[in-house]
Amino acid sequence: MIKLAQRIEIDESPTVKINDLAKTKTNLINFSAGDPKVPLHPAIKKALSQEKSLGYPPVAGIPELRELACNWMNERYHSSLQMNETVVTPGGKFALYALLNVVLNPGDEVLIGCPYWVSYHPIVQLFSAKVQVVMGGVDWKITPELLEKKANERTKVLILNNATNPTGVLYSHDEIKALLMWAQKRGCLVISDEVYSELVYDKQKFVSCAEFKEHKEHVATIESCSKNFALAGLRVGFAFAPKPLINAMIKLLSQSATGTSVISQWAAVAALENAREITTGVRDIMEKRRNLFVATYQDLFSTSLEKTQSGIYQFVPVMQKSEDYCIAALEKGVALVPGSAFGVDGYVRFAFCEDENNLVNGLRRLR
Ligand code: PLP
Repeated sequence: MIKLAQRIEIDESPTVKINDLAKTKTNLINFSAGDPKVPLHPAIKKALSQEKSLGYPPVAGIPELRELACNWMNERYHSSLQMNETVVTPGGKFALYALLNVVLNPGDEVLIGCPYWVSYHPIVQLFSAKVQVVMGGVDWKITPELLEKKANERTKVLILNNATNPTGVLYSHDEIKALLMWAQKRGCLVISDEVYSELVYDKQKFVSCAEFKEHKEHVATIESCSKNFALAGLRVGFAFAPKPLINAMIKLLSQSATGTSVISQWAAVAALENAREITTGVRDIMEKRRNLFVATYQDLFSTSLEKTQSGIYQFVPVMQKSEDYCIAALEKGVALVPGSAFGVDGYVRFAFCEDENNLVNGLRRLR
Protein backbone atom coordinates (compact mmCIF):
# COMPACT_ATOMS: atom_id res chain seq x y z
CA MET A 1 0.00 0.00 0.00
CA ILE A 2 1.52 3.35 -1.04
CA LYS A 3 1.46 5.87 1.78
CA LEU A 4 0.19 9.34 0.93
CA ALA A 5 2.36 12.35 1.62
CA GLN A 6 1.52 13.71 5.06
CA ARG A 7 0.70 17.17 3.78
CA ILE A 8 -2.03 15.66 1.57
CA GLU A 9 -3.97 14.40 4.59
CA ILE A 10 -6.46 17.23 4.35
CA ASP A 11 -10.23 17.08 4.69
CA GLU A 12 -12.44 17.15 1.65
CA SER A 13 -14.23 20.51 1.35
CA PRO A 14 -17.33 20.10 3.56
CA THR A 15 -19.41 22.42 1.39
CA VAL A 16 -18.51 20.53 -1.79
CA LYS A 17 -19.13 17.21 0.00
CA ILE A 18 -22.61 18.23 1.20
CA ASN A 19 -23.47 19.68 -2.20
CA ASP A 20 -22.37 16.47 -3.96
CA LEU A 21 -24.47 14.44 -1.53
CA ALA A 22 -27.45 16.77 -2.07
CA LYS A 23 -27.19 16.20 -5.84
CA THR A 24 -27.60 12.44 -5.40
CA LYS A 25 -30.87 12.82 -3.44
CA THR A 26 -34.25 13.42 -4.98
CA ASN A 27 -36.64 15.92 -3.47
CA LEU A 28 -33.93 17.65 -1.48
CA ILE A 29 -33.88 21.43 -1.07
CA ASN A 30 -30.31 22.60 -1.25
CA PHE A 31 -29.25 25.47 0.99
CA SER A 32 -25.66 24.22 0.99
CA ALA A 33 -24.27 25.32 -2.37
CA GLY A 34 -23.02 28.83 -3.02
CA ASP A 35 -24.09 28.55 -6.64
CA PRO A 36 -26.66 31.22 -7.60
CA LYS A 37 -29.40 29.80 -9.84
CA VAL A 38 -29.89 32.67 -12.28
CA PRO A 39 -30.90 32.64 -16.00
CA LEU A 40 -27.95 32.70 -18.39
CA HIS A 41 -27.34 36.02 -20.20
CA PRO A 42 -27.80 35.68 -24.01
CA ALA A 43 -24.26 36.93 -24.70
CA ILE A 44 -22.83 34.05 -22.66
CA LYS A 45 -25.10 31.51 -24.36
CA LYS A 46 -23.91 32.82 -27.71
CA ALA A 47 -20.25 32.68 -26.71
CA LEU A 48 -20.68 29.10 -25.53
CA SER A 49 -22.31 28.03 -28.80
CA GLN A 50 -19.87 29.73 -31.15
CA GLU A 51 -17.24 27.56 -32.71
CA LYS A 52 -13.78 28.58 -31.61
CA SER A 53 -10.44 26.93 -32.02
CA LEU A 54 -9.99 24.25 -29.40
CA GLY A 55 -6.24 24.36 -29.34
CA TYR A 56 -4.32 24.95 -26.13
CA PRO A 57 -5.07 28.27 -24.42
CA PRO A 58 -2.31 30.78 -23.69
CA VAL A 59 -1.19 29.68 -20.22
CA ALA A 60 -1.80 33.09 -18.57
CA GLY A 61 -5.21 33.49 -20.18
CA ILE A 62 -6.39 34.82 -23.53
CA PRO A 63 -5.22 38.45 -23.91
CA GLU A 64 -8.77 39.74 -24.48
CA LEU A 65 -9.86 38.31 -21.14
CA ARG A 66 -6.82 39.52 -19.21
CA GLU A 67 -7.35 43.01 -20.57
CA LEU A 68 -11.06 43.00 -19.79
CA ALA A 69 -10.37 41.72 -16.28
CA CYS A 70 -7.91 44.58 -15.62
CA ASN A 71 -10.35 47.13 -17.03
CA TRP A 72 -13.13 45.70 -14.85
CA MET A 73 -10.97 46.20 -11.76
CA ASN A 74 -9.60 49.61 -12.82
CA GLU A 75 -13.05 51.02 -13.63
CA ARG A 76 -14.50 49.97 -10.30
CA TYR A 77 -11.55 50.77 -8.06
CA HIS A 78 -9.55 53.46 -9.91
CA SER A 79 -6.62 51.06 -9.79
CA SER A 80 -3.93 50.92 -12.48
CA LEU A 81 -3.61 47.17 -13.01
CA GLN A 82 -2.01 46.04 -16.25
CA MET A 83 -2.25 42.82 -18.20
CA ASN A 84 1.06 41.50 -16.88
CA GLU A 85 -0.27 41.88 -13.35
CA THR A 86 -3.10 39.41 -13.86
CA VAL A 87 -3.53 35.73 -14.62
CA VAL A 88 -6.65 33.76 -15.53
CA THR A 89 -7.07 30.57 -13.47
CA PRO A 90 -9.48 27.61 -13.42
CA GLY A 91 -11.64 29.26 -10.72
CA GLY A 92 -10.91 31.59 -7.82
CA LYS A 93 -9.98 28.65 -5.60
CA PHE A 94 -7.14 27.72 -7.94
CA ALA A 95 -5.96 31.35 -7.95
CA LEU A 96 -5.68 31.13 -4.17
CA TYR A 97 -3.99 27.72 -4.38
CA ALA A 98 -1.46 28.97 -6.93
CA LEU A 99 -0.71 32.16 -5.00
CA LEU A 100 -0.10 30.27 -1.78
CA ASN A 101 1.94 27.68 -3.66
CA VAL A 102 4.33 30.30 -5.01
CA VAL A 103 4.83 32.20 -1.74
CA LEU A 104 4.78 29.65 1.08
CA ASN A 105 7.73 27.68 2.39
CA PRO A 106 7.28 24.87 4.92
CA GLY A 107 6.88 26.38 8.39
CA ASP A 108 5.59 29.76 7.18
CA GLU A 109 2.44 31.01 8.89
CA VAL A 110 -0.77 32.38 7.41
CA LEU A 111 -3.33 34.44 9.32
CA ILE A 112 -7.01 33.90 8.61
CA GLY A 113 -10.03 35.49 10.27
CA CYS A 114 -12.69 33.29 11.85
CA PRO A 115 -15.37 32.43 10.82
CA TYR A 116 -13.37 31.46 7.72
CA TRP A 117 -14.09 30.04 4.30
CA VAL A 118 -13.63 26.26 4.47
CA SER A 119 -10.77 25.95 1.95
CA TYR A 120 -8.18 28.35 3.41
CA HIS A 121 -6.96 25.99 6.07
CA PRO A 122 -6.48 22.85 3.91
CA ILE A 123 -4.81 24.76 1.06
CA VAL A 124 -2.24 26.27 3.43
CA GLN A 125 -1.66 22.80 4.87
CA LEU A 126 -0.89 21.45 1.39
CA PHE A 127 2.30 23.53 1.43
CA SER A 128 3.36 22.37 4.90
CA ALA A 129 2.67 25.84 6.22
CA LYS A 130 0.63 26.68 9.29
CA VAL A 131 -2.63 28.56 9.78
CA GLN A 132 -3.07 30.94 12.68
CA VAL A 133 -6.79 31.46 13.23
CA VAL A 134 -7.78 34.93 14.39
CA MET A 135 -11.24 34.97 15.93
CA GLY A 136 -13.15 38.00 14.63
CA GLY A 137 -14.19 40.59 17.21
CA VAL A 138 -17.06 43.04 16.90
CA ASP A 139 -19.24 42.03 13.89
CA TRP A 140 -16.82 39.11 13.34
CA LYS A 141 -14.21 41.52 11.98
CA ILE A 142 -10.46 41.13 12.27
CA THR A 143 -8.39 44.17 13.30
CA PRO A 144 -4.65 44.95 13.52
CA GLU A 145 -4.84 44.46 17.29
CA LEU A 146 -6.32 40.96 16.92
CA LEU A 147 -3.81 40.05 14.19
CA GLU A 148 -0.86 41.27 16.23
CA LYS A 149 -1.68 38.76 18.96
CA LYS A 150 -1.24 35.85 16.51
CA ALA A 151 1.60 37.19 14.38
CA ASN A 152 5.28 36.31 14.73
CA GLU A 153 8.45 36.32 12.64
CA ARG A 154 7.17 33.36 10.57
CA THR A 155 3.94 35.18 9.53
CA LYS A 156 4.10 35.59 5.77
CA VAL A 157 0.52 36.01 4.53
CA LEU A 158 -2.76 37.48 5.71
CA ILE A 159 -5.83 36.16 3.89
CA LEU A 160 -8.57 38.76 4.04
CA ASN A 161 -12.01 37.69 2.86
CA ASN A 162 -14.11 40.73 2.03
CA ALA A 163 -17.11 40.44 1.36
CA THR A 164 -17.03 37.56 3.80
CA ASN A 165 -18.23 33.97 3.48
CA PRO A 166 -20.13 32.86 5.63
CA THR A 167 -21.02 36.02 7.59
CA GLY A 168 -21.56 38.59 4.81
CA VAL A 169 -19.40 41.07 6.75
CA LEU A 170 -18.10 44.06 4.77
CA TYR A 171 -14.98 46.03 5.69
CA SER A 172 -14.94 49.83 5.47
CA HIS A 173 -12.26 51.94 3.78
CA ASP A 174 -10.65 52.82 7.12
CA GLU A 175 -10.72 49.24 8.38
CA ILE A 176 -8.99 47.96 5.24
CA LYS A 177 -6.45 50.76 5.33
CA ALA A 178 -5.57 49.86 8.92
CA LEU A 179 -5.16 46.18 8.00
CA LEU A 180 -2.98 47.01 4.99
CA MET A 181 -0.77 49.30 7.03
CA TRP A 182 -0.38 46.64 9.68
CA ALA A 183 0.56 44.04 7.03
CA GLN A 184 3.04 46.42 5.42
CA LYS A 185 4.76 47.02 8.74
CA ARG A 186 4.92 43.28 9.33
CA GLY A 187 6.16 42.56 5.78
CA CYS A 188 3.14 40.34 5.02
CA LEU A 189 1.50 39.65 1.70
CA VAL A 190 -2.25 40.36 1.87
CA ILE A 191 -4.32 38.01 -0.26
CA SER A 192 -7.68 39.70 -0.57
CA ASP A 193 -10.36 37.22 -1.57
CA GLU A 194 -13.05 39.38 -3.15
CA VAL A 195 -15.12 36.84 -5.07
CA TYR A 196 -18.39 38.34 -3.70
CA SER A 197 -17.43 41.96 -4.48
CA GLU A 198 -20.54 42.71 -6.59
CA LEU A 199 -23.02 40.99 -4.28
CA VAL A 200 -23.36 43.85 -1.83
CA TYR A 201 -26.83 44.86 -0.65
CA ASP A 202 -28.84 47.82 0.60
CA LYS A 203 -26.90 50.19 -1.69
CA GLN A 204 -23.73 49.74 0.37
CA LYS A 205 -20.35 50.34 -1.27
CA PHE A 206 -17.74 47.62 -1.61
CA VAL A 207 -14.15 48.62 -0.83
CA SER A 208 -11.44 46.60 -2.56
CA CYS A 209 -7.82 46.26 -1.48
CA ALA A 210 -7.01 47.11 -5.12
CA GLU A 211 -8.09 50.71 -4.39
CA PHE A 212 -5.02 51.27 -2.22
CA LYS A 213 -2.35 51.92 -4.86
CA GLU A 214 0.24 52.72 -2.21
CA HIS A 215 -0.03 49.09 -1.01
CA LYS A 216 0.12 47.48 -4.46
CA GLU A 217 3.48 45.80 -3.84
CA HIS A 218 2.18 43.60 -1.03
CA VAL A 219 -1.41 42.95 -2.14
CA ALA A 220 -2.87 40.18 -4.31
CA THR A 221 -6.58 40.26 -5.14
CA ILE A 222 -8.66 37.28 -6.15
CA GLU A 223 -11.79 37.52 -8.28
CA SER A 224 -14.01 34.96 -9.96
CA CYS A 225 -16.88 34.53 -12.41
CA SER A 226 -18.53 32.00 -10.08
CA LYS A 227 -20.51 34.26 -7.75
CA ASN A 228 -20.64 37.81 -9.17
CA PHE A 229 -21.62 36.49 -12.62
CA ALA A 230 -23.36 33.31 -11.40
CA LEU A 231 -21.08 31.20 -13.64
CA ALA A 232 -19.56 28.72 -11.20
CA GLY A 233 -19.49 25.90 -13.77
CA LEU A 234 -17.23 27.88 -16.10
CA ARG A 235 -14.37 27.62 -13.59
CA VAL A 236 -12.84 30.98 -14.39
CA GLY A 237 -11.08 33.05 -11.76
CA PHE A 238 -8.44 35.77 -11.69
CA ALA A 239 -5.50 36.83 -9.58
CA PHE A 240 -4.20 40.41 -9.66
CA ALA A 241 -0.79 40.73 -8.06
CA PRO A 242 2.74 42.16 -8.46
CA LYS A 243 4.48 40.87 -11.59
CA PRO A 244 6.95 38.47 -9.90
CA LEU A 245 4.05 36.64 -8.24
CA ILE A 246 2.04 36.52 -11.47
CA ASN A 247 5.07 35.21 -13.39
CA ALA A 248 5.60 32.46 -10.83
CA MET A 249 1.89 31.53 -11.01
CA ILE A 250 2.09 31.36 -14.80
CA LYS A 251 5.06 28.97 -14.54
CA LEU A 252 3.08 26.87 -12.07
CA LEU A 253 0.08 26.80 -14.42
CA SER A 254 2.33 25.86 -17.34
CA GLN A 255 3.51 22.80 -15.39
CA SER A 256 0.07 21.82 -14.08
CA ALA A 257 -3.28 22.79 -15.64
CA THR A 258 -1.70 24.38 -18.78
CA GLY A 259 -4.18 27.22 -18.40
CA THR A 260 -7.93 27.61 -18.21
CA SER A 261 -10.45 26.02 -20.60
CA VAL A 262 -10.54 28.13 -23.73
CA ILE A 263 -14.34 27.73 -24.12
CA SER A 264 -14.83 29.00 -20.60
CA GLN A 265 -12.52 31.92 -21.21
CA TRP A 266 -14.52 33.07 -24.25
CA ALA A 267 -17.71 32.83 -22.21
CA ALA A 268 -15.97 34.89 -19.50
CA VAL A 269 -15.06 37.47 -22.17
CA ALA A 270 -18.78 37.77 -22.98
CA ALA A 271 -19.56 38.06 -19.25
CA LEU A 272 -17.00 40.82 -18.68
CA GLU A 273 -18.08 42.70 -21.81
CA ASN A 274 -21.51 42.89 -20.19
CA ALA A 275 -20.23 43.08 -16.62
CA ARG A 276 -22.38 45.88 -15.25
CA GLU A 277 -25.64 44.46 -16.67
CA ILE A 278 -24.94 40.88 -15.56
CA THR A 279 -23.63 41.60 -12.07
CA THR A 280 -26.43 44.08 -11.34
CA GLY A 281 -28.93 41.46 -12.49
CA VAL A 282 -27.42 38.76 -10.27
CA ARG A 283 -27.27 41.14 -7.32
CA ASP A 284 -30.91 42.22 -7.70
CA ILE A 285 -32.09 38.61 -7.81
CA MET A 286 -29.96 37.65 -4.82
CA GLU A 287 -31.05 40.68 -2.80
CA LYS A 288 -34.70 39.73 -3.36
CA ARG A 289 -33.96 36.16 -2.32
CA ARG A 290 -32.13 37.34 0.79
CA ASN A 291 -35.12 39.52 1.73
CA LEU A 292 -37.56 36.68 1.14
CA PHE A 293 -35.37 34.23 3.04
CA VAL A 294 -35.07 36.47 6.10
CA ALA A 295 -38.75 37.49 6.12
CA THR A 296 -39.88 33.86 5.82
CA TYR A 297 -37.42 32.66 8.46
CA GLN A 298 -38.50 35.35 10.91
CA ASP A 299 -42.12 34.56 10.28
CA LEU A 300 -41.80 30.78 10.64
CA PHE A 301 -39.37 30.75 13.55
CA SER A 302 -40.66 33.87 15.40
CA THR A 303 -37.14 35.18 15.72
CA SER A 304 -35.31 38.17 14.34
CA LEU A 305 -32.35 37.90 11.98
CA GLU A 306 -30.05 40.66 10.88
CA LYS A 307 -30.00 40.60 7.08
CA THR A 308 -26.62 39.65 5.67
CA GLN A 309 -24.87 42.65 4.08
CA SER A 310 -23.26 40.83 1.18
CA GLY A 311 -22.64 37.47 -0.44
CA ILE A 312 -25.18 34.70 -0.85
CA TYR A 313 -25.38 33.27 2.67
CA GLN A 314 -27.23 33.88 5.89
CA PHE A 315 -25.26 32.70 8.94
CA VAL A 316 -27.94 31.77 11.45
CA PRO A 317 -27.54 30.96 15.16
CA VAL A 318 -29.06 27.64 16.28
CA MET A 319 -29.52 26.38 19.81
CA GLN A 320 -27.64 23.12 19.38
CA LYS A 321 -24.50 21.59 17.90
CA SER A 322 -24.47 22.74 14.30
CA GLU A 323 -23.68 19.26 12.93
CA ASP A 324 -26.64 17.72 14.80
CA TYR A 325 -28.88 20.44 13.40
CA CYS A 326 -27.67 19.76 9.84
CA ILE A 327 -28.09 15.99 10.16
CA ALA A 328 -31.67 16.50 11.39
CA ALA A 329 -32.29 18.97 8.55
CA LEU A 330 -31.00 16.45 6.01
CA GLU A 331 -33.52 13.93 7.33
CA LYS A 332 -36.24 16.49 6.56
CA GLY A 333 -34.89 16.92 3.02
CA VAL A 334 -32.92 20.15 3.54
CA ALA A 335 -29.16 20.47 3.00
CA LEU A 336 -27.23 23.05 5.07
CA VAL A 337 -23.63 23.57 6.16
CA PRO A 338 -22.75 23.44 9.89
CA GLY A 339 -21.00 26.46 11.40
CA SER A 340 -18.29 24.12 12.70
CA ALA A 341 -16.99 23.86 9.11
CA PHE A 342 -16.27 27.62 9.29
CA GLY A 343 -14.73 27.42 12.76
CA VAL A 344 -17.80 28.48 14.76
CA ASP A 345 -20.26 26.04 16.27
CA GLY A 346 -23.84 27.03 17.20
CA TYR A 347 -24.49 28.47 13.74
CA VAL A 348 -25.55 27.07 10.38
CA ARG A 349 -25.01 28.55 6.95
CA PHE A 350 -27.93 28.87 4.56
CA ALA A 351 -27.14 29.68 0.91
CA PHE A 352 -30.14 31.51 -0.53
CA CYS A 353 -29.34 30.50 -4.10
CA GLU A 354 -32.46 28.44 -4.85
CA ASP A 355 -35.52 29.97 -6.52
CA GLU A 356 -38.24 31.64 -4.43
CA ASN A 357 -40.50 28.58 -4.20
CA ASN A 358 -37.70 26.34 -2.97
CA LEU A 359 -36.51 28.94 -0.45
CA VAL A 360 -39.93 29.11 1.17
CA ASN A 361 -40.61 25.37 0.92
CA GLY A 362 -37.20 24.51 2.39
CA LEU A 363 -37.80 26.74 5.40
CA ARG A 364 -41.30 25.27 5.87
CA ARG A 365 -39.80 21.78 5.92
CA LEU A 366 -37.32 22.86 8.57
CA ARG A 367 -40.04 24.44 10.68
N1 PLP B 1 -13.43 32.36 -1.98
C1 PLP B 1 -14.57 32.22 -1.27
C2 PLP B 1 -14.72 33.02 -0.03
C3 PLP B 1 -15.57 31.34 -1.69
O1 PLP B 1 -16.69 31.23 -0.97
C4 PLP B 1 -15.37 30.59 -2.86
C5 PLP B 1 -16.36 29.59 -3.29
O2 PLP B 1 -17.26 29.21 -2.59
C6 PLP B 1 -14.17 30.80 -3.58
C7 PLP B 1 -13.22 31.67 -3.11
C8 PLP B 1 -13.84 30.03 -4.83
O3 PLP B 1 -14.75 30.18 -5.84
P1 PLP B 1 -14.47 29.61 -7.30
O4 PLP B 1 -13.32 28.67 -7.24
O5 PLP B 1 -15.73 28.95 -7.71
O6 PLP B 1 -14.12 30.82 -8.12
